[in-house]
Amino acid sequence: MEKPKGSAFKKIQATKQMKELMEQHFREMDEAAKTKSRKVAWCTSVGPAELLRAAGFLVFFPENHGAMLGATRMATDLIPTANAIGYSPDICSYLTADVGSYIQGKSPLSKAYPGIEGPPRPDALVFNTNQCRDVQDWFNYYGREFNVPVIGVQTHRGIGNITKAHIDSISAQFKGLVPKLEEITGKKLDMDEFKRVVGLSRQCTDLWKEVLEIASARPSPLTFFDGTIQMGPAVVMRGEQRAVDFYKLLLAELKQRVADGVGAIDNERFRLYWEGMPIWGKLRDLSDQFSSLNTCVLASTYCSSWVFPALDPDDPFDSMARAYIELLIVRDEDYKERYFEDQIRHYRIDGMIFHDAKTCPNNSNNRYGMPERLSKNHSLPTLVINGDLNDLRCYSEEQARTNIEAFIEQLAEK
Ligand code: SF4
Repeated sequence: MEKPKGSAFKKIQATKQMKELMEQHFREMDEAAKTKSRKVAWCTSVGPAELLRAAGFLVFFPENHGAMLGATRMATDLIPTANAIGYSPDICSYLTADVGSYIQGKSPLSKAYPGIEGPPRPDALVFNTNQCRDVQDWFNYYGREFNVPVIGVQTHRGIGNITKAHIDSISAQFKGLVPKLEEITGKKLDMDEFKRVVGLSRQCTDLWKEVLEIASARPSPLTFFDGTIQMGPAVVMRGEQRAVDFYKLLLAELKQRVADGVGAIDNERFRLYWEGMPIWGKLRDLSDQFSSLNTCVLASTYCSSWVFPALDPDDPFDSMARAYIELLIVRDEDYKERYFEDQIRHYRIDGMIFHDAKTCPNNSNNRYGMPERLSKNHSLPTLVINGDLNDLRCYSEEQARTNIEAFIEQLAEK
C-alpha cells in the first residue's frame, strides 16, 4: 500500500462561538436552578424539548452530560460506582457514568465552567422511550433522588411504515403531558409560543441537515468528528433563535470551504461512514488516525439523529409525534437498510465502519447481519469495531487501530 501522507486536522472557526453558546446554556440553567427563577426540566435527547420550552422550562439533557463524561474520560472511573448500587455494567454507560458522577459529586461541568458544581437540580424529568428503555430507568433513579415527577412518552419500536395510528398514539401522549407540565409551572401552555418554538426547532434542524449534507462535497469540508462537536446546539438548544443563528454561521464557513476546494483533511483518498455511537473518549485519537491515513469519516447516523424534517409549527403536536418516531433508531431493519443505501449513494461512501457499542444495543446496527447484507448487495467494504460510547474498558485501542489500518489497505487494494 502506498504510504499515506500525514494530514493536518483543520479547525472550524465557528467552534469558538459554539463553545460560548454552550457555556451560556449551562450558566443560565445553573443560575435558574440556584435562584429558582425558572423551572428546569431534564429531557431525553430526542424527547419533547419543544413542548418543555414552550411550557416555560429551561431544558437540560442528561445524555449531553453523559457524553461530556465520556469525552473527558471521567466515565470509566465513575461507572463502577453505579454498578455498586445495582446498575449493571451491561446497561447504558451514559446512565451508569451519569449516576456515578451524581453519587461521587464529580462533573465535567465544574471543570469546564468554574462556579457550576454540576447538573442543575430538576423540577421535572421527561423521557421518550423512542431510543431505548434505559432512559426511563435513568430518569426514575433521579425521580427517587430528587422527589420530582417523572413523566414521559412510550414509543413503539421497530417501526416499518409510519401509520396514522402511530402518530395519533404519540401525539395523544404529548397532549397528555400538558396538564402535568402546567401543574409544575403553574402556567397554561401558550399555543402560540409552542408554535413559535416548533418553528425555530424546524429552522435549526433544516440548517443542521444542510451542515451534515455539505459533507457530500469532494473533498468533504466536514468530518464526523467535527459533527460530534458542532452538534451541541442542535441537541440542547433546538427551539431557540441562537441555535439557528449559530448554524447559519457554521454553514457559511463550510460553504466557503467547498467554494475554495478545502477539505476537512488533506489529500482525501477514502470516504467512510460511521454507524453507531461515537467512542467519546477516543474521538481525537480516531480522528488523528483516519486523518493520517488520508481517510475522511464524513457522515454518520449518530449526527443525523437530530434532523427532524417533519416538524411543522402549524401542526405542533402531530408533527412532533412524526418527527420523533421517524428517527432511524425507532425503525425496523428493512427501513434501516434502505436508509443506509441512500446514505452510501449520497455521500459517495467507499466503506462503512460499524461501532458495536457494548452498552448500547439500540445504536449498534451490526448485530442482525446489516454489514454482511450491505457488503453483499452493494459490494461495500465494512468493518465492525468493538467498543463502547463511554466505558473504555470495552475498547481495545490496539486492536481497533490495527483493524482500521487493515481496512484502509483493503480499500486501497480494491
Ligand atoms: S440509546 Fe443507547 S446511548 Fe442512548 S440512552 Fe439509550 S442505551 Fe444509552
